[in-house]
Amino acid sequence: MLERIRIVLIGTSHPGNIGAVARAMHNMGLADLRLVAPRCEVITQESISRASGADHLLHSAQVVETLEEAVADATLAVGASARSRTLPWPMLTPRELGGRLSDECRADSARVALVFGREDSGLTNAELQRCHAHVHIPTNADFSSLNLAAAVQVVAYECRLAWLDGQQSAPSESDADTEAELATHEELERYFEHLERTLITIDFHDPDKPRQLMARLRRLYLRARVEKMEMGILRGVLTATEKAAADKAR
Ligand code: SAH
Repeated sequence: MLERIRIVLIGTSHPGNIGAVARAMHNMGLADLRLVAPRCEVITQESISRASGADHLLHSAQVVETLEEAVADATLAVGASARSRTLPWPMLTPRELGGRLSDECRADSARVALVFGREDSGLTNAELQRCHAHVHIPTNADFSSLNLAAAVQVVAYECRLAWLDGQQSAPSESDADTEAELATHEELERYFEHLERTLITIDFHDPDKPRQLMARLRRLYLRARVEKMEMGILRGVLTATEKAAADKAR
């Protein structure tokens, strides 16, 4: 299960924090680190010293340009946020997230991406809306923002507790073979692009007056945990809709 969990850091600006994240991850048995457009050097004296012996994670960390690249294969993406946002999204505590992980990680193809934001400004709304759910570490409401590596530590600890729980309980009957494969993040993003194009074609959606329509639809489809086969049906519906609109226009 721990091998299927990835930590994604977006736009990190302090090498010391990246080092401390590597240490927190290695302490808890996580190894998959991806850095999206870091705003600092990754391997520095400070990051190596803060990694305290977990610097192999700094060397194996994949550096990518966009969140999409970091989570393309993810079947569940969860954004860690210190603040609540304008459009409410499914919210989890780290413990509730841990409780879902053994189920979420059962299939061989399962990948869980835990996404953390910038030290100064966190995650943008667009980034948060690319996640199925948000995790918030309950804090003093007047002082809610943890240091980045401290936030990773708390969430990674709950992942480990959940994994330890799973080690103790007997393997369940519902194994990977019987679980339907979920659509990946990349497949969902392609669907959202197709959906938006179609809704514009049929004059349901005006990009100049968006009224959060796409964000609301994202929330709906992400909540549904769409399976690969269902994704095929939904794409088919859009293609047929586009064709019907084109035939009518002729
Ligand atoms: N000043 C930023 C917070 C940056 S802290 C803001 O107001 O959004 C850096 C990152 O650590 C955040 O983007 C988030 O991913 C994580 N983090 C910090 N505090 C958190 C909390 N209470 N719950 C969940 N994640 C938190």
